[in-house]
Amino acid sequence: MRFTDTPELATWRERVRAFIAEHWTPGDSHDELATHGPNAAAYEEINDKTRQWLDKLAANAWIAPAWPKEYGGADMSVLKQFVLNQELHEAGAPTSRPMMNLVGPTIMLHGNAEQKAEHLPPLLRGETRWCQGFSEPGAGSDLASLQTRAVRDGDDYIINGQKIWTSGAHRAQWMFMMARTDPAAPKHRGISYLLLPMSSPGITVRPLMNMADGHSFNEVFFEDVRVPLRNRIGEENRGWYVGATTLDFERSNISRAIHSRKSIAKLVDYTRGRAASGHAVPAGYRHEIVDRAIETAVVEQLSFVIVSIQASGGVPNKEASMCKMFGSELAQRIALTEMHVTSMAGQLRVSPLLEVHGLSPAMAYLSVIPQTIAAGSSEIQRNIIATRGLGLPRG
Ligand SMILES: Cc1cc2nc3c(=O)[nH]c(=O)nc-3n(C[C@H](O)[C@H](O)[C@H](O)COP(=O)(O)OP(=O)(O)OC[C@H]3O[C@@H](n4cnc5c(N)ncnc54)[C@H](O)[C@@H]3O)c2cc1C
Repeated sequence: MRFTDTPELATWRERVRAFIAEHWTPGDSHDELATHGPNAAAYEEINDKTRQWLDKLAANAWIAPAWPKEYGGADMSVLKQFVLNQELHEAGAPTSRPMMNLVGPTIMLHGNAEQKAEHLPPLLRGETRWCQGFSEPGAGSDLASLQTRAVRDGDDYIINGQKIWTSGAHRAQWMFMMARTDPAAPKHRGISYLLLPMSSPGITVRPLMNMADGHSFNEVFFEDVRVPLRNRIGEENRGWYVGATTLDFERSNISRAIHSRKSIAKLVDYTRGRAASGHAVPAGYRHEIVDRAIETAVVEQLSFVIVSIQASGGVPNKEASMCKMFGSELAQRIALTEMHVTSMAGQLRVSPLLEVHGLSPAMAYLSVIPQTIAAGSSEIQRNIIATRGLGLPRG
């Protein structure tokens, strides 16, 4: 088997490339992956040029390529989406709107006609920003332990409790959240899925600074916050199963492999530059760079495996966990290698290395740490691979 494009995909790739060449100017937006990691990027301030670019993607129905046409998507095949994503990430161009692929499919699959009409079009147009209110101080990996309460009162629920690590809550107009509606039920069964305007009285958003001094997530407190019953998605107490909706249509995660490859290219450029100027980096680091390059090839192959499973109608399971875990841990190893190779200059937060070689080792190192925590920690991914993948016993 060879991973080359069919004639149809090759034509498609050319079309995507031509579109990018015509509409995207490199540098119009920061390379989101390079500076903040795939998870943090989506919540950053969106500048005007990025907005214009995303609007062009939307006008082509490429902003939500996998969504059905009736909801503004392109009904695109998995392989075409894969090629589209590949080319967008190669170009360093933003691919979608914040939270779109988390809340959109959930409303599409579980929302009623009114909820779909109210929320999907403005989401696609980028007119509403959303945040995800799932994690709580006592409920992260074990999310079903969440304690935020929603109690019925007439046509409303009254919400009390706290969420944490809520990315983008300070910029969002809406939150999709899970709250406990039946504390007596087994923990997965007493949860409901609600849509909540962030302007509701009783909500307090407090910033949490991350270790790179960035403000992307927050604590959110609820004190007698009223949300209409009609804002519930799906049945009462069945919210856990609504929240477990397959969140991502194209799960190959090719962005990680592409970003890793770009990082290594910058490191190679830096190392060659040092050698050319008579200040070669110590020889031992050459092998470290080679190891990262091989590991990057492994992530890329995992992405191809995942997309080929999806293209043949399967659902990647352990493969998606392997790719997420290995790719996020690799991002940390690459950042560490950058720190080793660039030595003292790489420790600076603001360094000429960024201008000359596109390298920002200290900031990259601080920014990639959350990647092995967000969206399922490495330990949880290993548990999934152990049980669902290898059939190892629990415990
Ligand atoms: C950058 C970033 C953005 C985020 N954005 C959001 C957001 O927008 N909305 C939101 O709701 N949440 C968000 N989160 C929270 C994220 O979902 C949680 O951090 C994650 O689920 C882990 O939960 P926790 O932090 O409570 O850690 P815990 O679950 O308490 O885990 C602590 C440690 O114990 C390990 N551990 C836990 N359970 C097991 C187990 N069964 N076996 C082995 N080891 C285990 C974990 O791997 C981890 O190392 C974000 C997190 C990050 C880092």
